[in-house]
Amino acid sequence: MLVSIGKSHDRIAVSLFGVITFHSSKLNRRGTDTEHETNTMTDHELPPLPYDYDALEPSISEQVMTWHHDTHHQGYVNGLNAAEETLAENREEGDFSTTPGAISNVTHNGCGHYLHTLFWENMAPDGGGEPEGDLADRIEEDFGSYEGWKGEFEAAAGAASGWALLVYDPVAKQLRNVAVDKHDQGALWGSHPVLALDVWEHSYYYDYGPDRGSFIDAFFDVVNWEKAEEEYQKCLDHFE
Ligand code: MN
Repeated sequence: MLVSIGKSHDRIAVSLFGVITFHSSKLNRRGTDTEHETNTMTDHELPPLPYDYDALEPSISEQVMTWHHDTHHQGYVNGLNAAEETLAENREEGDFSTTPGAISNVTHNGCGHYLHTLFWENMAPDGGGEPEGDLADRIEEDFGSYEGWKGEFEAAAGAASGWALLVYDPVAKQLRNVAVDKHDQGALWGSHPVLALDVWEHSYYYDYGPDRGSFIDAFFDVVNWEKAEEEYQKCLDHFE
């Protein structure tokens, strides 16, 4: 029981009271709930870059990768952890006044964390070229040609104020391009991101200024199609 003591005085009081009167089913249930909550609280962590900070130069500078990963991505991880902590405290205290804002913070920071993680992985120092194998076949099937897909993806990347994503839509069972504002606006429910391109200004402005098109071209010099293929295979395993 003592291991379940939380940060707030309220939770300590509940836990100690639960120990003293553990034979009371109601208090015992609360004690169990507290333990359960403590045990399942996830502490999200910033994953290290899968390569050195300067590995994607000249497409993306060491400076941008350092700021982008260490400051921006870390901020989303911190924001997600803080929002989850607020939600847990609110449930514990039965006060849900700040819960709607915390739920919004979970989707904003959660999507920020997940998409940045994929973004780092779907680039590589030896990247570039065109997709091969099953993903290449599916792009041709669903978009008519690689050029047709790329033109559409680049249009999404030029227009979005967040992300361009190649996703697998498990309902229609097809690939789609989507343009996302911020991290979570414009998402297609249930779809799984296969390839992510961050077009927030923090992603390119230091290197390219307002010339987002050059940054998009540079992304294709380091795109890691092997990672995209891996994500696509997960979709096939789950949905087809
Ligand atoms: Mn970003």
